[in-house]
Amino acid sequence: MARSCQRRSPTVAVLLACALMTAAACSSAQAPVQPRADLTLFEGARLITMDAAGTIEDAAFLVERDTIVQVGRRGEVTAPPEATRVDLSGKTVMPAIINAHSHLGYRRGASFTAENYTRENILDHLNRLAYHGVAAVMSMGAERPLGYALRNELRKSPVPDTPLFLTAGQGLAMPNGGPAPPLRDAPYGVSTPAEARKAVQELRDKQIDRYVKIWVDDRGGMVKKLPRDVYAAAIEEAHAQGLLTVTHTFELADVKEIVKAGIDGLAHPPWRSGAALDEETVALFKERPNLFVILTLWSTRNDIYGRRPVWIDDPLLRETFTPAEIAMLENPATPEDARARWQGGVVPRGVQALKAVGVRFGLGDDSGATNGGFYFGVASHLEMASMVEAGLTPAEALAAATRNSAEILGLSRLGTVAPGKSADFIVLDANPLDDINNTRRIAAVYLRGAAVNRAALRERWTGRSTASR
Ligand SMILES: [Zn+2]
Repeated sequence: MARSCQRRSPTVAVLLACALMTAAACSSAQAPVQPRADLTLFEGARLITMDAAGTIEDAAFLVERDTIVQVGRRGEVTAPPEATRVDLSGKTVMPAIINAHSHLGYRRGASFTAENYTRENILDHLNRLAYHGVAAVMSMGAERPLGYALRNELRKSPVPDTPLFLTAGQGLAMPNGGPAPPLRDAPYGVSTPAEARKAVQELRDKQIDRYVKIWVDDRGGMVKKLPRDVYAAAIEEAHAQGLLTVTHTFELADVKEIVKAGIDGLAHPPWRSGAALDEETVALFKERPNLFVILTLWSTRNDIYGRRPVWIDDPLLRETFTPAEIAMLENPATPEDARARWQGGVVPRGVQALKAVGVRFGLGDDSGATNGGFYFGVASHLEMASMVEAGLTPAEALAAATRNSAEILGLSRLGTVAPGKSADFIVLDANPLDDINNTRRIAAVYLRGAAVNRAALRERWTGRSTASR
């Protein structure tokens, strides 16, 4: 009724209504309604909620400050007249992405050094993730002291255009036997069960986010592999301290042992050696339905494609990368080699075998480490495309990238678009359930209820001023 008083010339009904109100109420109703910046009704989009509500056509959702307060079909969601209205007709909305495996700080363009690990560089990586619709990122091991400090600072006072920054801290590995340089010296080097327990206790004191990262990998015989009694002690101590554990382990024999030792999840799929999942592994996964696998297919992306991936030509890549950086994404092998590798089919077969036993998939892309490159943000989109190429449905890839990864990281306010959740979502120009490559047709990104200033970020990175978007 207040809207009627404001918008239309007075009719008998309105005059009657006004007469029934107090004088003060009617005069305030007649004054122009000041839209509230902290209350916004988004209307008209196809909404992929990723929760029990499914996909809602011609949806509406109301956001108050940083929180989604109502979700439904247009007309069912009630908003006061002072709510700001945003018309999203023709658009598709999905929850923002949760990247469960990245490494911030070490990359700066083509440069990959420990000297790059600065506050400014980590913030730049966070901006790049936000630009591409990432709401939270787990820096999965190899953190340095400055990273902990910045995590603490951002947790206390979040800054715009950055996702939630989580860290697994340093992680632990054999002395000088962890990740490839320049991350190599960051983890705790441990070679006895007692050292492993002490490292876990220190990580607890540093208030790492949820996971102790454990490297079990001999790097093709180049380094000594972490022994079973050492990682078993680390897992047991982590659980005693209320923490979970995730591992970098590729060889199937090691995967079986570390699963039996109680690991909570795999930071990569278990098939560097190309071994097919055997019955014993399948049985282990069946026994442990909460065991998860973060599909970092990105690092073996070119083994999935028997042809040039369509994303090489994607306009989104050209928004933040140089032609030389994009060219580095191409398969360095000849097309014949690519086809031969694909026909081996190790990666798609592995994904489908894990899917068949109902393994819970999360999304990671290892961006910032050796294989992940400098492709912060965009790599998560290419990861989703790779998941579908390897045999997941678009809906399964979206679930891995949003709801599942939020659950894996224990982020109860992220991963779906639903009442009570943080208002973190991506507005797309096309439907990713039709074609997963549409996740890259980004019209806008909202984090904690605020639009990410993508035009300003793009201008900063490219030096070019462009139309807003
Ligand atoms: Zn990694």
